[in-house]
Amino acid sequence: MDTNRFSGKTAIVTGAGSGIGLAIATQMFEQGATVIAVDRNAAGLTLLPDGVEKVKGNVTDPELGARLDQQLGARPLSILVNNAGIGGGGRADETSDDDLQRYFDINVRSVFRLSAYAVKRMRGTGGGAIVNIASIYALIGATGSAAYSMSKAAVDGMTRQMATDFGPEGIRVNAVAPGLIETPLTAERIRTEAWRHQIFIEQAPLRRVGTPAEVAAAVAFLASDEARFITGATLRVDGGWAVGRYPRQQSTVGETA
Ligand code: NAD
Repeated sequence: MDTNRFSGKTAIVTGAGSGIGLAIATQMFEQGATVIAVDRNAAGLTLLPDGVEKVKGNVTDPELGARLDQQLGARPLSILVNNAGIGGGGRADETSDDDLQRYFDINVRSVFRLSAYAVKRMRGTGGGAIVNIASIYALIGATGSAAYSMSKAAVDGMTRQMATDFGPEGIRVNAVAPGLIETPLTAERIRTEAWRHQIFIEQAPLRRVGTPAEVAAAVAFLASDEARFITGATLRVDGGWAVGRYPRQQSTVGETA
């Protein structure tokens, strides 16, 4: 591990108290970044290493930028990772207006607002990098997740749009589209619900789901100087799941993965 990969860089990571965000904030910190971790769940923030700066806050709060300004002080902002988000949901005919609003407030409006904030902080400081966490569901048709898939498709489009607007100022904007990632929340269901096992493991080219650390590694790459000529890209981190299905002849449901 290169512990100097992000030395001298300050990164804000949202939703850093669990799962993928926890892995992103931890990896960047271990690789030398000053990390400001934001989560609405204070207990989750305690899981982060000592030395990570913790801000309990909701990404939907319009005052969050002002609070981040206070936390940053005069330090230039180099990296923003828009990771906080909610999943799940149902089909369009099962989704209320309120549900739709909630998905768009958390998964889209907050990304839009925080990115605009970050651009103002990065402008004139030699550039920066924004990485958005979209989803493979932004790119394919997926059953039973209308509001979620639409919200992540908006994040995918926003990534290209902002990359175009802010590239001339040296600000790169990219996204990662994870497939199913094994977190404490999803692990048990992946193994015990036969249809999930069949769709996400048996039919996946790499025959497994991903880990938060694997998504974090892709995010760190896009945020790093190694990706200095990459902007407007959405990188799938899904074990090949979205490019094709490769069913086995015999189901392995019931076997432990
Ligand atoms: P998670 O639920 O484990 O963690 C999300 C974190 O974000 C939590 O700590 C939560 O408290 C925080 N959060 C949620 N809403 C917030 C808000 N309004 N303000 C501040 N903090 C908030 O989820 P995860 O699986 O790690 O997912 C992280 C991101 O990755 C999400 O954007 C999700 O849509 C995306 N994603 C996850 C998967 C997967 O399989 N886990 C797949 C594709 C995309």
